[in-house]
Amino acid sequence: PPGLHFVSTPIGAARDITLRALDVLAGADVLVAEDTRTLRHLMEIHGVALGGRPLIAYHDHSGDATVARLLGLIGEGRSVAYASEAGTPLISDPGFELARAAAAAGLPMSAAPGPCAAICALTLSGLPTDRFLFAGFAPAAQGARRTFLAELSGVKATLILYESPKRLKSLLADMVQALGAEREAVVCRELTKRFEEVSRGSLATLAAAFAERDIKGEIVVLVDRAADVVAGKDTVEAALLKALASMSV
Ligand code: SAM
Repeated sequence: PPGLHFVSTPIGAARDITLRALDVLAGADVLVAEDTRTLRHLMEIHGVALGGRPLIAYHDHSGDATVARLLGLIGEGRSVAYASEAGTPLISDPGFELARAAAAAGLPMSAAPGPCAAICALTLSGLPTDRFLFAGFAPAAQGARRTFLAELSGVKATLILYESPKRLKSLLADMVQALGAEREAVVCRELTKRFEEVSRGSLATLAAAFAERDIKGEIVVLVDRAADVVAGKDTVEAALLKALASMSV
């Protein structure tokens, strides 16, 4: 059907693509990808022929002209399928500018949902899943990263962050400072791939364990929510006295 169709692609295991995602890729008039080579390769693996269809490169810095061109095609009644390099488009990946423009123009949109590293990691973490905050990548500069973590420290939700292998050690070290050594955390590496690994422990334990290692691969870091502050004896006494004072006996 005409419209903009977001397609989620695997985060490691090629067979994690959904049947509907393959249908959308097979049926679209125009294919758009963050990385055209990756999409071409994925389609080859699953026997979806590109044929004579256009395959256009897009990321959020492609500029207004590309967005206008794609919206124009949809406006003419074409179906346009967009896939980012891996996982769910727009999740720490390009696609937002396209989605915003299509929504503002009132164009038909659909999503073929599928793999997402954040959700896969949350599922395996063993941490509470009733409330979570996806924070994307922490800033690379240390000062900005510390401010970023300080802002997250009181959040009552499981925190989910993406990180590059070369910055994992400094992220964990800063987390110990900002969130406390005792907070439970989980590091997921290479999800859905051959060397998948899930490490659980306190931030201090994980920081010490990874400090010793040569870290490679793709990584998601999760941290348990801030503990409820238990009211101290003085606070309770003060509250009781205040309550008594307000009673008219
Ligand atoms: N759109 C993707 C998604 O839905 O998960 C995320 C794209 S973002 C540019 C790439 C980051 O996602 C990696 O640096 C890593 O933090 C995380 N990631 C992607 N694939 C992963 C995997 N197989 N295992 C662990 N983390 C992964």
